[in-house]
Amino acid sequence: MTYDDSNIFARILRGEIPCKKVYEDDFALAFHDIQPRAPVHVLVIPKGPYVCMADFTAQAPESLIAGYFRAVGAVARQLGLEDSGYRLLVNTGGDAHQEVAHLHVHIFGGRKLGPMLAKS
Ligand code: AMP
Repeated sequence: MTYDDSNIFARILRGEIPCKKVYEDDFALAFHDIQPRAPVHVLVIPKGPYVCMADFTAQAPESLIAGYFRAVGAVARQLGLEDSGYRLLVNTGGDAHQEVAHLHVHIFGGRKLGPMLAKS
């Protein structure tokens, strides 16, 4: 799986374009989604060249996998979502309609989110 470092999240990680940052540590960066679909809609990306969840879980070192998932939990906690609840979404590949080819976890919250997946 080839990582193209011209993708928009790679550019955010390099500081080439701005983001509304909510959290950063050695493993992850989190920022508000530019087109929020819930009162809280934050993206968490790993600090590494991983296209998607398939790539990340196959290639990333254990320390990054652990650090990244801890960061996702920390971001949700920092956003004050633990009591009310929240939803994580990771689109992976074509059927899931992944648009940006750098792994990202969506965190949604701030309202009742309804059924898990729309019927189609
Ligand atoms: P996905 O369909 O899972 O790949 O989601 C990509 C997400 O990235 C969408 O929800 C977009 O609104 C979001 N997005 C695209 N460009 C930016 C950006 N520059 N800053 C923040 N979010 C972005």
